Amino acid sequence: MGYGIFATRLIPKGSITYVKDSLEIEITPTELSKHSNALQEHIEKYSFREKNGLRVISWDLAKYVNHCCDPNSLSTPFGFEIAIKDILPGEEITDDYGMFFIEQDMPCACQAPNCRKVITPNDSEFMTQKWNEVLKPIMSSIFETEQPLIDLLPEETTKALVSNASTSDFFRSFDNLNFTHDDYLSV
Ligand SMILES: [Zn+2]
Repeated sequence: MGYGIFATRLIPKGSITYVKDSLEIEITPTELSKHSNALQEHIEKYSFREKNGLRVISWDLAKYVNHCCDPNSLSTPFGFEIAIKDILPGEEITDDYGMFFIEQDMPCACQAPNCRKVITPNDSEFMTQKWNEVLKPIMSSIFETEQPLIDLLPEETTKALVSNASTSDFFRSFDNLNFTHDDYLSV
């Protein structure tokens, strides 16, 4: 819908495709309410929402990434997104908006065979296990893939990845990072 982001060359599975860097624009719910209705609509359209209710607008092209129910990248709990399959030149880069603590149902027309038809604030409740299953093996081999964006990660994130990527502790912590709607509501 509208703009989209398309690969211009092969992006191998396991590549970091997006980093929430320090240039991103963060908007609190209070700040959001102070903007005009027109601007609030733009913010809603181009931001993603974090567990703590912050809206984040990417300063770069990432704000145009569309949802697909069969996405080729997924968000991680570490402030970056990662390709979950090889993304071929010309292919649209997509992720799953079900991970972004949306507040209202969003109709979906992604045309994937497994399209959920509507993305809801509760999708994480039945999708988290699947997301984890997909992400775990990719995260555990993250340094086996060339990572052109690695320098954009905050140092502490890189350190955590280096020290924990192959340990079971890492996966335990990953399991605990629940994307549940209740969790969001309690913030
Ligand atoms: Zn869909």
